[in-house]
Amino acid sequence: SKKAIIIGSGIAGIASSIRLALKGFQVELFEANSYPGGKLSEIEIEGYRFDAGPSLFTLPEQVDELFRLAGKNPKDYFEYEKLDVACQYFWEDGTRLKAYSDINRFAEEVQTKLGEPAQNIREALRKSAFIYDSLAPLFMNRSLHQLDTWTNPQALKSYLRMGKLGIFSTMNEANRKQFSHPKLVQLFNRYATYNGSNPYETPATLNIIPHLEFNIGAFFPKKGMHDITMSLYKLSTELGVNYHFGQKVEKVLVENGEASGIRVKGKDQFADLLVNNMDMVNAYKTILKEEKQPKLLLKQPKSSSALIFYWGIKRDFPELDLHNIFFSDNYALEFEHIFKKGTIYDDPTIYLNITSTHKSDDAPEGCMNWFTMINVPNNQGQDWDKMIAEAKRNILHKLNRILKTDVESLIEVEGILDPRTIESKTSSAQGALYGNSSNNKFAAFLRHANYSSSIKNLYFCGGSVHPGGGIPLCLLSAKIMSEMVES
Ligand code: FAD
Repeated sequence: SKKAIIIGSGIAGIASSIRLALKGFQVELFEANSYPGGKLSEIEIEGYRFDAGPSLFTLPEQVDELFRLAGKNPKDYFEYEKLDVACQYFWEDGTRLKAYSDINRFAEEVQTKLGEPAQNIREALRKSAFIYDSLAPLFMNRSLHQLDTWTNPQALKSYLRMGKLGIFSTMNEANRKQFSHPKLVQLFNRYATYNGSNPYETPATLNIIPHLEFNIGAFFPKKGMHDITMSLYKLSTELGVNYHFGQKVEKVLVENGEASGIRVKGKDQFADLLVNNMDMVNAYKTILKEEKQPKLLLKQPKSSSALIFYWGIKRDFPELDLHNIFFSDNYALEFEHIFKKGTIYDDPTIYLNITSTHKSDDAPEGCMNWFTMINVPNNQGQDWDKMIAEAKRNILHKLNRILKTDVESLIEVEGILDPRTIESKTSSAQGALYGNSSNNKFAAFLRHANYSSSIKNLYFCGGSVHPGGGIPLCLLSAKIMSEMVES
């Protein structure tokens, strides 16, 4: 059978290995780390378990699809539940909101607490569904770089709807038109951060995202986010994929315009097909250094990054749920700091993810595992040690004010992830979470294609190529890529 080599075991690399194995390829996967999953991994600190990166799980059927494709029952490998409350929101003035997944209940909550007409919520989510239904078939399930994507009937339908898809206004402008209460504008603006963008610049088309969380649902894997990695890793090994851990690929071998293999630890390995899952910017700087560079693409601004404190907290907080947001009082200024000044605002919006609320063995009894995250600029060489110390103080003060407690005295263990360590652990350029930012309307068109236009037999998957970052899109990149490959 034909042999395929995959570089990187991020979630898209694993999904690609499954799809290629099912197409009959003998798949060899080379991973620099000693573990699979890239950003989607876990850490353990003295009895506390934390999902290291992603915490929000949407579109679970994309994971299920891989098991089904292999003729397996997804439930034998991977289980998840739908959340009743997608997220809890806290403000400094004491306002608290629960985003129930039941839209009518959420609309009622918003009407009671903020006086926002329930109709506005229903209308916003209807528009969100409309964007999704118009764009998903065109942009998410197909390659943007092949002519038939642009000439099929579905594309024509999307062109006709262009005006209604929010391409010509920003997310913030659209949300200000949609909602009367500023807290709701803020809540819906937050969805821009789901792909590391700025709601004051990104096109309103990104209002596609609430549809995923409300209309389709937010989910939690019963064994934690890391189980997405582990269950798919298990399936791929069962299909015969060979993983080579601790093997950092040094070079893609190209002969006569055709990818022929890779160099690892000075040794050449040959294959009929090559798939790169490594971040594209760093790939062109390292393993593709000698090849033609897509300059325009490499220059694109990157998405934001994150600063995370993994805190073991020796107390229970019944008022906290799986996903909790503590909003900044000045959202516009916060994003100005992240995207214009390259710094961290002193009143940051805090995201607290606590998996022990749903998976009790993630923390000792009576304790909680707090994944405490703020959005920060990507790494441009700032003085991170200083910025992290300041951010920690500001985060603690804010949580103390809103939760009326002294958080610092409750912290038993601490781990930290910042833009520098995100880059060193996963090769993500500047530690960006989602590849290029979507802060301008052409961003979607400027992602790298799922294949190389200059090197034959070289394909791409992962968060820095089409259709984009985040678990669902990474899984789709593997699907789009594998559909281009002839077995
Ligand atoms: P990556 O995870 O980027 O992995 C690439 C792999 O390639 C790594 O394992 C790396 O070691 C390996 N590699 C690189 N270079 C080489 C080489 N030369 N040789 C061998 N191996 C190499 N998404 C969501 O859907 N929901 C969320 O809530 C969410 N939150 C996030 C929070 C954080 C803090 C982070 C960091 C990301 C978050 N994301 C979220 C985004 C999501 O994690 C990513 O989009 C996705 O996991 C990227 O997968 P990938 O396949 O592109 O590979």
